[in-house]
Amino acid sequence: SWVNFSRYFHKVIDRFELTKNENVTFIRKIPDEAIFIEIDEDKITQVLDNIISNALKYSPQGGNITFRIKELSDEILVSVTDEGVGIPKSDLSKVFERFYRVDKARSRKLGGTGLGLAIAKEVVVAHGGRIWAKSQEHKGTTIFFTLPLERIQEDDWDEV
Ligand code: ATP
Ligand code: MG
Repeated sequence: SWVNFSRYFHKVIDRFELTKNENVTFIRKIPDEAIFIEIDEDKITQVLDNIISNALKYSPQGGNITFRIKELSDEILVSVTDEGVGIPKSDLSKVFERFYRVDKARSRKLGGTGLGLAIAKEVVVAHGGRIWAKSQEHKGTTIFFTLPLERIQEDDWDEV
C-alpha cells in the first residue's frame, strides 16, 4: 500500500525511542515533505527493525544513531548510521548472507541467529531496491537501502 515514507519512518523510530537505552542518542535527518511510495509496510518494518536493532546492539554508551532519508530522481535512499564497533572490510558483503556473523565469540555473547540482514536483503530486493553496508572498524557502520519511487509492474503495460 501507499505510505508517506517520512512519517512512517518517524513512527518506526519513535517505537525504538521509547525502549532504547538513554545513553544512546537518536538523530533524525528526515525531510519534512511527504514522500509517497508503495511498499509492503509489515515487511519493510521488519527490515528497519532488523537494521535498527543491530545499530543498538553494536552501539557503545554515548553513541549516536543517525537516521536519514534522501529523495533521489527515481528512488529513495534510506540509511541508519551507528558509532559502534564496525564491520571489517572483508566481512562487509557477507553480513547479508544467512547465518553469517562477524567474530563468532563476540556475536555469541550478544545473541542472535545471523538472519536479520539476510531477511532485510530479501525484502528490499523483492521491492526492487538494493541494500549495502559501509563501515570503519571502531568508528561505526552505515546500512543503506533504496526503494524505487514508482513500482513499474508488467501488468501496467497492458492498460496503455
Ligand atoms: P539476528 O539479527 O538474527 O538476531 P545478528 O544480528 O547476528 O542476528 P544480522 O543482523 O544478520 O545477524 O547481522 C550479521 C552480522 O553482521 C552480525 O552478527 C554482526 O557481526 C554484523 N553486524 C550487523 N550490523 C552491525 C552493526 N551495526 N555494527 C557492527 N556489526 C554489525
Ligand atoms: Mg541482527
